[in-house]
Amino acid sequence: MKTAGQPGTLPQHLVQRRCVECGYDGALLRDGAAARCARCGCDLRRRPARSYAEMEGMVVRAPPRRGPSPEKLSHDLQRQRLQRWLAFGLLAMGLLLVVFLAVAAIAM
Ligand SMILES: [Zn+2]
Repeated sequence: MKTAGQPGTLPQHLVQRRCVECGYDGALLRDGAAARCARCGCDLRRRPARSYAEMEGMVVRAPPRRGPSPEKLSHDLQRQRLQRWLAFGLLAMGLLLVVFLAVAAIAM
């Protein structure tokens, strides 16, 4: 009977994470951190890549980091900044229009 062990003591082929759909275990999988399998396109967020050791319950490892990638965070930040500037521009134009109308009303 197998017992639970440390990942370091198990052979590499048992701890190498692979796509559960097609078995791909290459570098493009980024040890299960990639969003999709590079070979079959399997959604690794819904079906995370796992090693044989994990599937057999020989090791329990924390799942790969979830959440948006740094590129997406940077893109969201840029979009947020653009939206703030657009809102500021619209507000400034609205204020200028109000001032212009007030001056025009006084001048009449
Ligand atoms: Zn795959």
